[in-house]
Amino acid sequence: MKTAIVNLCRLLLATVFILSGFVKAVDSLGTQYKIEDYLQAMHLGITLPDFVTLALSIGVSATEFCIGIFLLFAIRRRFSSRLSVIIMAMMTPLTLWLALTDPISDCGCFGDAIVLTNWQTFWKNVVLLAAAVVVAIWPMKMIRFISESNQWIVINYSALFTLAISGWSLYDRPQFDFRPYHIGSDLRTGWMQMMEGKESPYADFFIERMDDGEDITEQVLDSKGYTFLLVTPYLEQADDSQLDLINQVYEYAQDYNYPFYGLTASGDKAIGLWRDVTGAEYPFCQTDGTTLKTIIRSNPGLVLLKDGVVIQKWSHNLLPDEYELDKPLEELPLGHLPDDSVAKRIASLLLWFVLPLVLLSIADRMWAWTKWIRKRKRLISYINKKEVKMRKKIVAGNWKMNMNLQDGIALAKELNETLKAEKPNCGVVICTPFIHLASIAQFLDQNIIGLGAENCADKEKGAFTGEVSAEMVKSTGAQYVILGHSERREYYKETPEILKEKVLLAQKNDLKVIFCIGESLEEREAGKQNEVVKAELEGSVFNLSEEDFRKIVIAYEPIWAIGTGKTATAEQAEEIHAYIRSIIAEKYGQAVADDTTILYGGSCKASNAPELFAKPDIDGGLIGGASLKAADFKGIIDAFK
Ligand code: PEP
Repeated sequence: MKTAIVNLCRLLLATVFILSGFVKAVDSLGTQYKIEDYLQAMHLGITLPDFVTLALSIGVSATEFCIGIFLLFAIRRRFSSRLSVIIMAMMTPLTLWLALTDPISDCGCFGDAIVLTNWQTFWKNVVLLAAAVVVAIWPMKMIRFISESNQWIVINYSALFTLAISGWSLYDRPQFDFRPYHIGSDLRTGWMQMMEGKESPYADFFIERMDDGEDITEQVLDSKGYTFLLVTPYLEQADDSQLDLINQVYEYAQDYNYPFYGLTASGDKAIGLWRDVTGAEYPFCQTDGTTLKTIIRSNPGLVLLKDGVVIQKWSHNLLPDEYELDKPLEELPLGHLPDDSVAKRIASLLLWFVLPLVLLSIADRMWAWTKWIRKRKRLISYINKKEVKMRKKIVAGNWKMNMNLQDGIALAKELNETLKAEKPNCGVVICTPFIHLASIAQFLDQNIIGLGAENCADKEKGAFTGEVSAEMVKSTGAQYVILGHSERREYYKETPEILKEKVLLAQKNDLKVIFCIGESLEEREAGKQNEVVKAELEGSVFNLSEEDFRKIVIAYEPIWAIGTGKTATAEQAEEIHAYIRSIIAEKYGQAVADDTTILYGGSCKASNAPELFAKPDIDGGLIGGASLKAADFKGIIDAFK
């Protein structure tokens, strides 16, 4: 709701500012005159030079237009909303004063395009001030139409556009003429209506001969055919750079008997000076200065009437020359009403300003969209990678044949209390001799510490004296079993085939297998470590289905490092872990490989665990000697902190 209100207010402000700035820029001279009117009405007693009031006119229109664009596109949201509050907070009391004292009939906020009374202007400003305050309170609720990184294009384009419009209006004439003397205006009819006492904008329009002061307005407007009016509100300020062209037009008018009048508000002295400087021979008539400034925004400017209708206007910069004026007007295009309608000019405005911005916005939105997609893809792949990194981290203890029941229970209890008090950042498992399992399972919080056996039989049950089956292990409450440990392979001659059976039986009984692989020193020295681990995996676990393989934890334990105090360097370990993962990927695919936990074992201690576990393919450790003391084991677990 809040967002909707803010955006509604913002669009209202944007529309008004853009319209107001645009109509002022399109008629820079008109805006300049208005500023001069204001200064006079305020009785400030200062007369600013023309170039200052003109600069003010261009500045005011550019500021209004750009703020409107900023609000429309939600550019620099805090700045533009605060600026609009400041402007409205200044304009509202000013227009209240205008409404109360009425020194100027029309405030000129929309140039000549929309003429409001002073009270209408004041209430309009009250509404806009309220809207500006709403937007300034929640500027960040303005929805962006363009991304921040591309805002500079809109900012510069809008500023250049409004300055270009102002510049063009000064060089030529306002591209949109909202005054009663625009091309196509029927002055004769309007003036006649005024004479009949009807409401008319031509009340101040008169033409008086200089010599006898006779009003010849009717005569000029009533004359059939073409009449040239050279409009020079104040000759003292008129631009005389194009005097040759003016004289050429006059000569042309004489050649074809078209009446030609110079209209000015200046006196005889200024006219005499003008004649001296320009060699002008055309007759001058008196007309109201403000009316002349309204007729054409150029000093001098040329107006062509046909049967009292304005059919052409030229600024002094774009007067027709002798090459254009080589035939009677009737036969020339400029002797007829131009066909560039307002609709055409609006279309070109849309083409030059609105269309590029719309295209830019679309391109920007598409760019933002593709950026969003790319970001999302990156995020997904990052999450995936994280998930890869998130495969289960485990620190598992292998007590081997150590500790009697009481000592074992005491150690398990101590670990249990320690890790309950300070939750580990990885999975923790203790694998104990068979005789400890049932007792420890009673008190161990298996949500924190998993319990496992160090071995299980390769037979399901029966006459195998001294053996413990997987089912028995499971029945103690244990969840894990270490299989394939090098000591079992070496001392008890457990072959890959035997281990294959054990793995199957363990999984059948829902035990999670920690499957050990690793090369001997001779094999390492012969560079056969990859071959060895591959053969061990192929011999005992690569027969599993993908689903079952996913349940296996691999423990890479170089035999030469077990219980010897020699650790594989982190780089050596990472290298072979990566290799193991690659062969799992070959067999089961990358996803399975990425999900497989591969532990390192072999003289792992609290001191070297952090470096080892920091490697991307090392997901924890299988710890022998250092798992027999709670503090040592905890030190290794803490490597994941
Ligand atoms: C082990 O026997 O699995 C083992 C890694 O031992 P240690 O940590 O003592 O080298």
